[in-house]
Amino acid sequence: MEVIPSNKGGQKILLDGCMYTNTSTRKNHIWWMCVQCCSLHCKGSLKTSLAMDTLVSGASHNHDPDPTSVCVTKAKANLKSLAAQTRDKPDHLFAQTLADLPDDAKLCLGKQDTVKKMIQCKIQD
Ligand SMILES: [Zn+2]
Repeated sequence: MEVIPSNKGGQKILLDGCMYTNTSTRKNHIWWMCVQCCSLHCKGSLKTSLAMDTLVSGASHNHDPDPTSVCVTKAKANLKSLAAQTRDKPDHLFAQTLADLPDDAKLCLGKQDTVKKMIQCKIQD
């Protein structure tokens, strides 16, 4: 189970090739919904401890896991945090991130220009 920042300033959980977004925080646990809940009407969900380190329970998905898209999401989040922390050029960060990705994820990361724009936005923040 891995927690990364989401695009909207929240958090995402990555687990077994699926991604979940935080939907509600209760007194003792947090509910997470599969990111495909709208597009695929998936009812996959997770319940974790408040510290997000323990899986309490989960519901299964109506689709196959997608490790490639998880990998790409992770790479993008990683790029953004690198861009915010370092003064490296977007070209360099992009090349560095790409080098660490499996081939199928490389194809899904997107065009270099698009990703560079994303990094530059982050630097200007
Ligand atoms: Zn799902």
